Amino acid sequence: MPVSIAVIGAGPSGFYSAEALIKSGLDCRIDFIEGLPTPFGLIRGGVAPDHQSTKRVVRAYERTALNEHVGYYGNVQVGRDISLEVVRRLYDAVVVAIGAPLDRALEIPGGDKRGVYGSAAFVGWYNGHPDHRDLHPDLNCESISVIGHGNVGLDIARVLVKTAGEMEDSDLPDYAARAIHGGPIRDVHLFGRRGPLEAKFTNVELRELMHLRDCVPVTGLTPIPTSIPADADLSPRDRRLKEKNLATFRDFAGLAPSGKAKRMHFDFYSRPVEVLGGDRVEGLRLERTHLEGETAVGCGEFFDIPCGVVVAAIGTRVKPLPGLPFDARRGVIVNRKGRVGKGLYVVGWAKRGPSGVIGSNKPDADLVASHICEDFPQGRKAGRAGLEDALDEAGADWVTYEDWQAIEAAEIDAAGPCAPRKKLIRIRDMLAVLEASSKTQEEPSESHFNHT
Ligand SMILES: Cc1cc2nc3c(=O)[nH]c(=O)nc-3n(C[C@H](O)[C@H](O)[C@H](O)COP(=O)(O)OP(=O)(O)OC[C@H]3O[C@@H](n4cnc5c(N)ncnc54)[C@H](O)[C@@H]3O)c2cc1C
Repeated sequence: MPVSIAVIGAGPSGFYSAEALIKSGLDCRIDFIEGLPTPFGLIRGGVAPDHQSTKRVVRAYERTALNEHVGYYGNVQVGRDISLEVVRRLYDAVVVAIGAPLDRALEIPGGDKRGVYGSAAFVGWYNGHPDHRDLHPDLNCESISVIGHGNVGLDIARVLVKTAGEMEDSDLPDYAARAIHGGPIRDVHLFGRRGPLEAKFTNVELRELMHLRDCVPVTGLTPIPTSIPADADLSPRDRRLKEKNLATFRDFAGLAPSGKAKRMHFDFYSRPVEVLGGDRVEGLRLERTHLEGETAVGCGEFFDIPCGVVVAAIGTRVKPLPGLPFDARRGVIVNRKGRVGKGLYVVGWAKRGPSGVIGSNKPDADLVASHICEDFPQGRKAGRAGLEDALDEAGADWVTYEDWQAIEAAEIDAAGPCAPRKKLIRIRDMLAVLEASSKTQEEPSESHFNHT
């Protein structure tokens, strides 16, 4: 009997796990159980809407999804539509690939004021994630502060300063475009506790800022080192990457503003200590820092930046699920090299926390696939048939991969001349597309879309 494997979460780490299992040659049947009707996790809902080339990685995932031994059950949230316990009872092996979607709170005085957002919610809003459609950030302000010197913060800052023309070939939803381009945003500050050498931006993203139509990047008064100390504890690769970033920061200094209306400020050695204002954000108080070893230590010197919105790109954590051991401090699922319990495994951001690029999720997917091959030379449980029965019993409106392709086709059809797609944002609108297409078919629908 083939080994039955459920992969909970159809983001990159879920797809890499399925791909590794297929490549392993194990006789298995793999079913994705995905909370949204749409697959691909943060590729759809995190990667910036103006970075469409990065999103092309899904073509490889698509080949996996269409493999004859792979099934897709979208719009099924484990913990809401079915419990982890039931999934474990039905499948020989369960791979948890649910990412780390919850924002960490900005734990400083005023961190809960109106106008303070976590990056997961803010990025989800401008990427049309159904959970964040109704965030409604008030961007009617000239200055915005983004906390965090990593690529997520940089993405947010860039999306806020690009012109409508520059976003033309993106899939930024109309409501977000109206809020961003209809507002008076002039200055976006990016604050980091440490210096230019420690910032975690990738160089391609930094260099892109040199070519923005209406915005110049500025590094202010912080001197940018011309070289990295010889005794710095860095691999040759990291040293090369950091040298590139320093060179780019130095290049920023040579850029002429030449009539550009907006500024993206890189503020180093600054840590937020208080969000200022009454009911809603009016500014951010920061403390200057210096480094003691790797640690940023406050200097006792404070300064205020007026701003109407604060976005904290300070990390995210797993949404705990009953039946999964959760490390509350690290915000991840407790595991030993991907093993969580008997027949239960974890991969990706749910395992490691929010770090690394898309490809960083491959090694732990490979590792978990090898664990499964070792633990289950043969299958014992029925998997798919039991899942469908359980979902029908629970009245779940599950969608297949073919249904997702119909949703995608509708998004592409609705797109403007330059945009890759016009995203459907509400789950009910996605399901309505399927309902409409099944009604227009004369023959009984082949679709497995399960209307209840
Ligand atoms: C803002 C942002 C921008 C990024 N940009 C880039 C980039 O440009 N280039 C790059 O290389 N990397 C980028 N990354 C990193 C990359 O997106 C991640 O490495 C990758 O998505 C992590 O994959 P994952 O599968 O672990 O999690 P996710 O991508 O989060 O996928 C998790 C999936 O699980 C589903 N799920 C969650 N809970 C449940 C449940 N209870 N039941 C069923 N399904 C569930 C979710 O709906 C989701 O589809 C970015 C990340 C962020 C946050």
